[in-house]
Amino acid sequence: MSVIFGEPSSVFPNCTSLYVDGLTERAVIDPGAGLEALKAFAGRVDLVVNTHYHFDHIWGNHFFRGSPVLLNEVEKNCFPDLEEVGSRLGIREVYGDEGVKDWIDKLARTGGVAASRRGGGVTPRAPHSPAYRPEWWLSTRTPARSYPYGEFNVGSVRAVMVHTPGHTAGLACPFFPDEGLVYTADIDLTRFGPWYAGTDGDMDAFAVSARALLALDADWYLTGHQEGLVRKADFAQRLEDYLGVIGERDRRALEVLGNGASEEELLREGLLYGSRYHADPWIYMWDLVATRKHIERLRQKGVLQT
Ligand SMILES: [Zn+2]
Repeated sequence: MSVIFGEPSSVFPNCTSLYVDGLTERAVIDPGAGLEALKAFAGRVDLVVNTHYHFDHIWGNHFFRGSPVLLNEVEKNCFPDLEEVGSRLGIREVYGDEGVKDWIDKLARTGGVAASRRGGGVTPRAPHSPAYRPEWWLSTRTPARSYPYGEFNVGSVRAVMVHTPGHTAGLACPFFPDEGLVYTADIDLTRFGPWYAGTDGDMDAFAVSARALLALDADWYLTGHQEGLVRKADFAQRLEDYLGVIGERDRRALEVLGNGASEEELLREGLLYGSRYHADPWIYMWDLVATRKHIERLRQKGVLQT
């Protein structure tokens, strides 16, 4: 098994990938490390496995053209049907059916091979997100098959695909019992904190899933971004600070509203990114969706009365 660290430091929209050599079968998990990093594995991959459908974990799928693509059972309808991605990511919630259609049309023009040979069209502006990267199109053309949650072996290598909903509804963290290693994907300990800003994200489920990873008999936790390999004790210790960011966002929401701002103003400012990044239509979308979730949850808890 090889860890393929992304360029640079697996910062979004790249990620750390894993190469699993099971002798009779070889898989690359989440090929988002970058084409230079993945080059060494060209021609040595029988299966492409995606832990979830997000861009940073799938954008190198097209590099292994001809290999079957496997996605979790919940999200397998995402490839090649980008309508499904549009619903899960939040595009439909924020920009409507037309917004989803427009996004797919633009991707088909910029990512479609025929179109790119003609020079493609003008790529719309999305300075902080991969909204219009052509790989969205190129890497989702192979219809995904699904792997089961639970036992899933790659040749001679035993793996357990642990269902960890929250970041997305279907996220699976691959656990390798013989190596004592779990790939935690976007349960990643970054300073940014947990991300649950798609329509299919759930902050409470995120925390439950993240803590459940500690029950695995693993010595090593490999995050999908930046941190890399972390010993179990360190992962356990840092996880609470990381999950604590959810509570910090709650507190900020209450403070802003307590200072007399309206809910609309809070939604416009956003709790995850802030309005200075909202020139990017996806960053605005995610900030809006996530902030709605916080407001809704605070209301359900009775902390916020309106
Ligand atoms: Zn993700």
